Amino acid sequence: MTDLKQQHAARTAGKTEIDTLIVGAGQAGVAMSEHLSKLGVPHLVLERKRIAERWRTERWDSLVANGPAWHDRFPGLEFDDLDPDAFASKERIADYFEDYARQFNAPIRTGVEVKKVERNADRPGFIVETSEGVIEARRVVAATGPFQRPLIPPIAPDDKRFTQMHSVEYRNPQQLPEGGVLVVGGGSSGVQIADELNRAGRKVYLSVGPHDRPPRSYRNRDFVWWLGVLGLWDMETVQPGKEHVTIAVSGAHGGRTIDFRELAQQGITLVGLTKSFDQGVASFQPDLAASLAAGDENYLSLLDAADAYIARNGLDLPEEPEARKTFAEPACVTHPILELDLAAAGVTTIIWATGFAVDFSWLQVDALDEQGKPRHQRGVSSEPGIYFLGLPWLSRRGSTFIWGVWHDAKHIADHIATQRKYSAYQDATQRSVEAEAPVQAATRLGAR
Ligand SMILES: Cc1cc2nc3c(=O)[nH]c(=O)nc-3n(C[C@H](O)[C@H](O)[C@H](O)COP(=O)(O)OP(=O)(O)OC[C@H]3O[C@@H](n4cnc5c(N)ncnc54)[C@H](O)[C@@H]3O)c2cc1C
Repeated sequence: MTDLKQQHAARTAGKTEIDTLIVGAGQAGVAMSEHLSKLGVPHLVLERKRIAERWRTERWDSLVANGPAWHDRFPGLEFDDLDPDAFASKERIADYFEDYARQFNAPIRTGVEVKKVERNADRPGFIVETSEGVIEARRVVAATGPFQRPLIPPIAPDDKRFTQMHSVEYRNPQQLPEGGVLVVGGGSSGVQIADELNRAGRKVYLSVGPHDRPPRSYRNRDFVWWLGVLGLWDMETVQPGKEHVTIAVSGAHGGRTIDFRELAQQGITLVGLTKSFDQGVASFQPDLAASLAAGDENYLSLLDAADAYIARNGLDLPEEPEARKTFAEPACVTHPILELDLAAAGVTTIIWATGFAVDFSWLQVDALDEQGKPRHQRGVSSEPGIYFLGLPWLSRRGSTFIWGVWHDAKHIADHIATQRKYSAYQDATQRSVEAEAPVQAATRLGAR
């Protein structure tokens, strides 16, 4: 045996072999398993904790889905205990994925972490090191989520006077020390956390940057419906200049349009992008009014597109002129705070609702660029046999969302099934050897 082969034999003694290994059993892993099951592809899903773990333990207690129950689901199962227009709680969503996996008997092993994936040196496929031994897989689908590593910008102060946490660690207002809170980030997480803290009687400063803010609903249709019929979920690339624009929507309290001026009227103090901290003094960019104006523009452009769609298609949907009414400009916008002495303002906590990064350090294959970002086309990576699922803009805007990932998984499953056909192909010589083999064997047996 060559050295390489000896090493390989030593590492894989007692190993499991599988055609396709899916890493992660969130919505992406469950969808992938469903499609592979339908196509008869042998596979296994490994999940380091529980099915849909992030919905259970990495989100705040009161979180509900951003989209209504009729929309934020897979095609094969409804939320039959919920009104279709209601917003499922985070626990209900996690239960949904457990039920879904049970429905088709998904081959999921929980409590097993994938530690390392390496390409075989001398043949196709991968060696997968897990917390419970080695697996040899012909293909690997990384379904470990779009939001893996909480990102806190380097400007975060090293100052023991303040409790600091990422939104992934926030659970509820009671968890925080007494006092005011600076929430950094005006996307869906930052806005909902700021609103919850304000309602709980905390003094809240909310640092807002560029954002989109669709109406929760317009003319009797939720914004998810409008994005669907207007083809906006299907956009394949981020519009230039919108790469760092977050989206502010919420299903909380029955689902309400996010209006920053309304939040200000309710007591939240808005500030611009957080620039820096110096000895307990936070500095903010003078960009709050501009960010709000761009958010309004985005909001109004969706109303205009919806009106045009209704007119063009002759739909009988009630007019809603009040959707165009605006709140008065609050003092925090007309006279923006550019510096805030946090201790003097009573702030004791800083919550960083500043997003996430991916972490594929366990994936030691040729499918990542110099920054560790996946190189792929619709999830099919540059390393044959490695696939990514659930990433932002994997194929389109909807790719990270519950319903969107299901369609991306279908594409990847089709790709895998096609590759299996290529692998199984035999030319005429191979076919004739195969056909003769049993006859020769029978002849030999008969001759004995
Ligand atoms: C606050 C918040 C609210 C959201 N609300 C909505 C919403 O309302 N509607 C919607 O459509 N989308 C929503 N999303 C977006 C998206 O649906 C979720 O982020 C969803 O959890 C992504 O599912 P996923 O399966 O791709 O990844 P994840 O849910 O992150 O699942 C990945 C799984 O992989 C496991 N894993 C990771 N590494 C390993 C390893 N090495 N070995 C084994 N297992 C591993 C993890 O434990 C995890 O269970 C929201 C996101 C956030 C952050």
